[in-house]
Amino acid sequence: MDETTVTLTIDGQEITVPHGTTILDAAAQLGVEIPVICYHPHLTANGLCRVCSVDSGGRVQAAACVTACSDGMVVQTDNEKVRRGRRVILEMLHSTISLDESPEILAMMEAYGADPHRFDEGERRTAPVYDDNPFYIRDYNQCINCWRCVQVCAEDAQYTFALTFDGRGFHTQISTFANKPMPDTTCVFCGQCVGVCPTGALKPKRQALLEEGMNPDEVFFATRRRRR
Ligand code: SF4
Repeated sequence: MDETTVTLTIDGQEITVPHGTTILDAAAQLGVEIPVICYHPHLTANGLCRVCSVDSGGRVQAAACVTACSDGMVVQTDNEKVRRGRRVILEMLHSTISLDESPEILAMMEAYGADPHRFDEGERRTAPVYDDNPFYIRDYNQCINCWRCVQVCAEDAQYTFALTFDGRGFHTQISTFANKPMPDTTCVFCGQCVGVCPTGALKPKRQALLEEGMNPDEVFFATRRRRR
């Protein structure tokens, strides 16, 4: 027996992969696409949003982005239980924050038949909009706490550590250390957090101003003036 590999079945197809391979990666090798939200191929996976959960025969579903394949595992990535789980996750997400500028998540809701009004009476997570620098705006009313921006700002890429979590439980949100304005942090305005954000929570300032109705000349002078 080769102890460096494991053999499992995913949606009826057998596959042998190196020990430590995640279900998500093994499925991709078979051409099976598992939906993801918080996962990003170049960042550390944390299994936070759980939308990639699959049925691997256990008591609870397994987050495919962080669960390693094991020998003899039988995985179903799209049965009714799995689809129901994804539907509820998406409905709860929709009830908590604004997904208006998250077209990929909205498309996922449609694909899974998620009812956007199912938890209309649920409490919404609200936050101030931070417009504290000339480069990007932070609107955490649209933040799904995926942690991508924190990871890319830390060991996964930039080693700047300008971002962190603040609060606990339901009120957890992304923040700077001591909630300082971005120019007073270690931020170097590399823009990587904006690039990996899967929602409208982080937005380039110029894009925001264009959306507000300014023309490119007005945007140029507005951002130049604010940079001084
Ligand atoms: S700001 Fe964007 S990247 Fe950061 S946690 Fe929120 S949704 Fe994710």
